[in-house]
Amino acid sequence: MDESKKEVYEVAELFNDTEIDHATIEDAIKNILIAIGDDPAREGIARTPERVSRSYAELLAGYRIDPVAMVNDALFDVTYDEMVVVRDIELFSMCEHHMLPIIGRAHVAYIPNGKVIGLSKIPRIVDMFARRLQVQERMTRQIAEFIQTLLNPRGVAVVVEGLHLCSMMRGVKKHDARMTTSTMFGYFRKNHSTRMEFLDNISRGSTPLHF
Ligand SMILES: [Zn+2]
Repeated sequence: MDESKKEVYEVAELFNDTEIDHATIEDAIKNILIAIGDDPAREGIARTPERVSRSYAELLAGYRIDPVAMVNDALFDVTYDEMVVVRDIELFSMCEHHMLPIIGRAHVAYIPNGKVIGLSKIPRIVDMFARRLQVQERMTRQIAEFIQTLLNPRGVAVVVEGLHLCSMMRGVKKHDARMTTSTMFGYFRKNHSTRMEFLDNISRGSTPLHF
């Protein structure tokens, strides 16, 4: 494997090319059903272990997305050097402390330095990191570092707004449920006007995140 591929795997973290173990998940869910005091033979939930296992395969698919295959053929050499912004990328993640959903959106920007990535890949990069057990701060940093490694741009900025169902459902103070995190590198960190251009762009015409 060449060095750049190795770097992409490293920065993607936790890539796993084994099959998800449905039998083990189904057993575990069945045990949870018993432990909480329900009846796993009851008609309504008899197939719940199987359903949960299948839904985990989808909700947590991010471990099994091959990052090198994903970006393959989508990197282009260009002379364009203006800010590229992709905003309002819908994301669904799971908090790693409670395994409950984080619903949110991401805004991603970078300033190319000779290389760009196909626009449709940015939401897929977000998805790769979102569909894992996560904490929002780390997910935000991972998205930024991945793009930094891939494109070596003049700057990268990632802002994530998330609603954490573990806070909303568990009677913790409501204001803890909504969170905004950001990671900025290069021009976005060094240059106030670049940062403001991005922040103005993502706040323009945006509606507050809510249900
Ligand atoms: Zn949580």
